Amino acid sequence: MPSIKTLSLTQPITALKGVGPSLAVKFSHLSIFTVQDLLFHLPHRYEDRTRTTPICALKVRQPALIQGEVIDCQVITGRRRSLLCRIKDNSSSIGLRFYYFTAAQKKALTAGTAIRCFGDIRQGSSGLEMYHPEYDTDEQANTALPLTLTPVYPATNGLSQLRITKCIQAALALLLNTDSLPDYLPDYLCQQQKLPSLKDALIYLHRPPLEAKLTQIAQGQHPCQRRLIFEELLTHNLSILKLRQNLRRCPAPKLPPQQQLIPRFIQSLGFELTAAQTKVWQEVESDLNTSTPMMRLLQGDVGSGKTVIAALTALHTIENGYQAAIMAPTEILAEQHLIVFQAWFEILGIRVGWLSGKTKSKKRRETLAALAANEISLLIGTHALFQDDVHFKQLGSIIIDEQHRFGVHQRLSLKQKGAEHNTSCHQLVMTATPIPRTLAMSAYGELDNSIIDELPPGRTPVKTIVLPDTRREEIIHRVQAACRQKKQIYWVCTLIEESEQLQCQAAEFTTEQLKNAIPNANIALIHGRLKSQEKADIMAQFKAGEIELLVATTVIEVGVNVPNASLMIIENPERLGLAQLHQLRGRVGRGAVESFCVLLYHPPLSLQGKARLKILRESNDGFIVAEQDLALRGPGEMLGTRQTGDIQFRIADLQRDQQLFEAAQQAAQLLFKQASSTSINALIKRWLSHREQYAQV
Ligand code: ADP
Ligand code: MG
Repeated sequence: MPSIKTLSLTQPITALKGVGPSLAVKFSHLSIFTVQDLLFHLPHRYEDRTRTTPICALKVRQPALIQGEVIDCQVITGRRRSLLCRIKDNSSSIGLRFYYFTAAQKKALTAGTAIRCFGDIRQGSSGLEMYHPEYDTDEQANTALPLTLTPVYPATNGLSQLRITKCIQAALALLLNTDSLPDYLPDYLCQQQKLPSLKDALIYLHRPPLEAKLTQIAQGQHPCQRRLIFEELLTHNLSILKLRQNLRRCPAPKLPPQQQLIPRFIQSLGFELTAAQTKVWQEVESDLNTSTPMMRLLQGDVGSGKTVIAALTALHTIENGYQAAIMAPTEILAEQHLIVFQAWFEILGIRVGWLSGKTKSKKRRETLAALAANEISLLIGTHALFQDDVHFKQLGSIIIDEQHRFGVHQRLSLKQKGAEHNTSCHQLVMTATPIPRTLAMSAYGELDNSIIDELPPGRTPVKTIVLPDTRREEIIHRVQAACRQKKQIYWVCTLIEESEQLQCQAAEFTTEQLKNAIPNANIALIHGRLKSQEKADIMAQFKAGEIELLVATTVIEVGVNVPNASLMIIENPERLGLAQLHQLRGRVGRGAVESFCVLLYHPPLSLQGKARLKILRESNDGFIVAEQDLALRGPGEMLGTRQTGDIQFRIADLQRDQQLFEAAQQAAQLLFKQASSTSINALIKRWLSHREQYAQV
């Protein structure tokens, strides 16, 4: 067993006396692996055990420390067997109630025993009582009272408060007696931000003095907390800078501007680029013109015209003699890109290839051969593009559409496709789910950011109406009228369970119902279980206006473009995220006619549910919707599980600590240039060792 002086904080907690492997496993559930991790496991509240309260002054529901002696102790048999122990001090008496107790306990609590106990006061059957108080007897009851507040730590199954406290005390003793916790923040930074030293901050938070402002601590506003939050955010930024640097280390082909294809393509479009598209294209073009691989996130609301940017990127790559790949998360979206790009590119003499999970093996072999020979210049598809046997002759750029469905690992693995022969390729990631700035910084910080913040001209904003489904009949009448006027309508059935089959059944049922109610309309159903050819046919018919009413599951969520559709009904919108609803709504309002989106919710709605639908009714701006959704639901739910893992902080809080983000980011940029890589790595290890993605780099 190492002595306390030689123990280092970066050792595993099993180095502490009394901590064996099984206890270590329990600590790992709290993300505590090293002695240092214990120090960063902060109390979630504090108790005042620095003074005792006379029994006569106790108040119901308030915690208190009392000191006295046992007068009586007996087992009460009644509705529920319990041990009731009466104690008194020189002001009054009170009962201690134990529903779980041992014979030894009863025996120890004999009359005359000195006792000190801490607990919440309740109104019990014998008058005021403490239920299951913590207590000490005899000499233990007469030790000196603590001088500081008593911390209460977040605990977990099988790990008692007492055990956690003891281990943390051991870590604190180490911190106090040695200089084993290096402070990596330069003095100027602490002065500028008015932050105490790391050691002082930790000691204060584990053992706050009596006069500590507990409300300030509860709100995360105490300078000692801000010191830790700042360091954590700063480290997070350092790790992102490092990841960025590593990802850009491998050179990509430098693709200078060419004069032929791009102007011809823009001319063929039949519309002018919006100012926002032009600006974003300039950003992309200048990225491509260097040998540092582009890693850019393109955010733009639904319908803002991201596809054109994808096309320009691909063309630019192809004109320089390289290949491009476009990947979409679902078959239906990828197919839609295929149709669009074939129409755009084949007249320019560019061969477009297709690859999905369903591509038959013969066709697949042909495609792969053509790809390896650089006969296919642009490959479009789904996740199938990730597969090991897909080899490009020379891949220059990758475009990923609607990336919030792909994880970081997938993004990186596709990138490696270009990394044969130690070169890398350019990457453009497009999303129609606007990501609030703080989230983008945390979850996508390794990417540069471009935003298309303007819609093409001639669009009328969608009017959103929120109605209970008790008015479904009325809506069906309205749909009927719209059909008669040759308008086109989406009717969206949302997910009932995680079962696609059930979802399809519900959609089939709704379709039958609507067919009965509106007999002379052309009504079709589209869902994820149809063959891709069937889906493509239905979409083509809807696009051509042969179908008036399209009942759909959420497969139509993103990217499907039918400008004549001007009415959308969404059933049970309360089941979907706001961003997803906003995406769906973006399917209408793509032409010049006024469009409507009816959110047909199932009452009763919770207050939060109401607030959420109200946001959609009041705003058509995806960024505002996203910010508000973040405020209401928090980052985890908003981005889905994959991203929550990436942005889990130990102490910082994405919402509460927003004001610190900017400063932490700036400080990180400076430190990244100035600090030694040893201290940067040590900081990353200190704060992020539980997150392998960042820890690896
Ligand atoms: P999203 O950003 O949702 O992917 P799309 O790229 O599908 O949007 O564009 C939506 C529609 O707007 C398409 O029909 C596209 O041809 C059209 N569009 C794109 N840019 C412009 C523009 N500058 N002017 C007019 N229409 C445009
Ligand atoms: Mg799109």
